[in-house]
Amino acid sequence: MHELGVVTHVIRTLEEVAQENDVTKIGSVTLTVGEVSGIVTEQIIDCWNWFKKKTPLVCEAELKIEPVPAVTWCTACEQTYETVKYGKTCPHCGSKETYLLQGSEFAIKEIEAE
Ligand SMILES: [Zn+2]
Repeated sequence: MHELGVVTHVIRTLEEVAQENDVTKIGSVTLTVGEVSGIVTEQIIDCWNWFKKKTPLVCEAELKIEPVPAVTWCTACEQTYETVKYGKTCPHCGSKETYLLQGSEFAIKEIEAE
């Protein structure tokens, strides 16, 4: 499962940050998840809850997820549009000369110590 790997990565990062900053308990973690990142938020939450029980550092931490909408830029007419709705074809001019501006990211945005 892809999401399990993602959450493992998040937990490892948190452990590193906690160690560097002498933090023993994390209060909350904010993740940004792009609309077309391929990551399923519900599965992230499931994996997180599983890790939470066996990881003292995050056992009381709150997980916050901020979705990032996918936006595509059209180089032909220089306008943006919703990626999920229109895909790779620009709805303004029909051009396929487009690229994704945002929406594929996955990142740890904020970590709060307790
Ligand atoms: Zn266009």
